[in-house]
Amino acid sequence: MRAYRQAIRFDRCSMVAQGGRTWHKGMAKAEQRMKVTVLGSGDAFGSGGRYSTCLHVAASDGTVMLLDCGATAMLALQRAGIDRNTVSAILLTHFHADHVGGLPFFLLDALFESRRKAPLTIAGPRGVEDWIARVTDTAFPGFGTNSFPFPIHYVEVTPEAVAEVAGHQVTAFPMDHDQRAGPCQGYRLARDGRVFAYSGDTRWTETLVPLAAGADALLIECYTYDKPLKNHLDWMSLAARLPDLTARRIVLTHMGPQMLANQDKATLECAFDGMVIEV
Ligand SMILES: [Zn+2]
Ligand SMILES: [Zn+2]
Repeated sequence: MRAYRQAIRFDRCSMVAQGGRTWHKGMAKAEQRMKVTVLGSGDAFGSGGRYSTCLHVAASDGTVMLLDCGATAMLALQRAGIDRNTVSAILLTHFHADHVGGLPFFLLDALFESRRKAPLTIAGPRGVEDWIARVTDTAFPGFGTNSFPFPIHYVEVTPEAVAEVAGHQVTAFPMDHDQRAGPCQGYRLARDGRVFAYSGDTRWTETLVPLAAGADALLIECYTYDKPLKNHLDWMSLAARLPDLTARRIVLTHMGPQMLANQDKATLECAFDGMVIEV
């Protein structure tokens, strides 16, 4: 029943996600906002029947970017009725499959099904181009060296410099997760005077403080409830440091089974597949 209710919520929210362009029509300039749809709020294991991480970020001018592209991203995009050709950029936090595993499928779809013509930007931590070649070639052997009928621009986003990705000013912050799959980064996306911050995967690290500082919204991972891990955040550790996180709105995501079972005890909102965060 719970899963069914979630499905309904997803579909209702996906109506909003379908048209970045429809959504911004008639919106006064002073109201320009980013709209972040959480297409996947789950962990690496599909806990709670949730999709793995993928955020649909629509700017007020209709530009669409995916923030992470987890293994189930194509399922989530299809279910939400999102035309993949509307996505102009994909920004990655790190290279675990629950954050990047959907990209080979996205590229395959772009080639054979969506028949993409427009350029695609793939941005992420240092080494992103090499990572994508390896991930893609592992998923579909021989595909990593494929030539595509549309340009792919790779952008390395590092903490040393603000990068522009799909019109967003992107600032990267090093996270403390698993350097074998990194560098692992959280991002602040700034646009039209608004700031959306996203942690990606991490345990508590002091760089979460500047990541969150004054942001209009922060989406932060919270994998367990009261069980500290070396790669992920738990609610108890996060709760103890909440006074240091000065984002105006904080939403938890990437919840594992223990956190899902204890959502009611958290004093912050918990994301769900299809949740829309207007920033
Ligand atoms: Zn990870
Ligand atoms: Zn993850």
